[in-house]
Amino acid sequence: MEKKYGVYICKGCEIADTVEIEKLEEVATKEKQIPVCKTHDALCSPEGLDLIKNDISGEGVNTVVVAACSPRVKYKEFSFNGSIVERINLREFVAWTQEPKTEDTQSLAEDYMRMGITKAQHTGLPEPFMLEEIDKAVLVIGGGITGMTSALGAADAGYNVILVEKQAELGGWAAKMHKQLPRTYPFESIEEPTIKATIDKVTSHSNIKVYTSSEIEKIAGFPGQYDVSIKTNGGTEQAKAGSVIMAAGWRPYDANKLEHLGYGANPNVITNVQMEE
Ligand code: SF4
Repeated sequence: MEKKYGVYICKGCEIADTVEIEKLEEVATKEKQIPVCKTHDALCSPEGLDLIKNDISGEGVNTVVVAACSPRVKYKEFSFNGSIVERINLREFVAWTQEPKTEDTQSLAEDYMRMGITKAQHTGLPEPFMLEEIDKAVLVIGGGITGMTSALGAADAGYNVILVEKQAELGGWAAKMHKQLPRTYPFESIEEPTIKATIDKVTSHSNIKVYTSSEIEKIAGFPGQYDVSIKTNGGTEQAKAGSVIMAAGWRPYDANKLEHLGYGANPNVITNVQMEE
């Protein structure tokens, strides 16, 4: 973006009583060669803001330096969509804290002007990083209930899915459950697990490629373009994906650390995994 600078100096809030405004203008126009430099009695007033907005729309100013109060105040007023805004704090750093009209105070204000304008000159608007090509395949790591549900959701929405499970069978912990929580009205009693039906749906879905007894060896690239190496069948297969869903499951907590809850001392205190077994 080609920058066009505008420097706006506020005379309000005792700034004009503390420093020579004309000398600050000279820093902008003579030293820094800024083409547009204006002053106003109260830049945050509707008229003051119009002064800036008119230059943005009429003069093509896109880098605005506001020499007025702290950037911590009047943030909304001095936000101009699409323009770089640099704030120079002449009010709190100079007018409200320094002795008025002394050489040191003037020189301090001029230095703040130089620093603010220089910073604006070295500031750019962030530009979005646009990928030319986005791979829409989804890599799902983990073939438990979470991974399979994610895979089915993406596959039913029309995306190709690569599902990688390190065990020989899909299902994870859910496949070891004796019963599952109620999923149907009136939600009163535990139900037969539906995991088998979910596994069948996943393995027969035309958009899902399942790797069992397989592990992710490496993922390189970035969102939208991942190169995936899958360790499978004693070798390595390469795949491409645009996004990754981590559903690698959970590990039971070491219940031996829970003696204070009776684990180990009372045979009736067991873990959820032991319960299923
Ligand atoms: S609040 Fe800021 S912009 Fe408004 S008059 Fe005071 S110094 Fe100027």
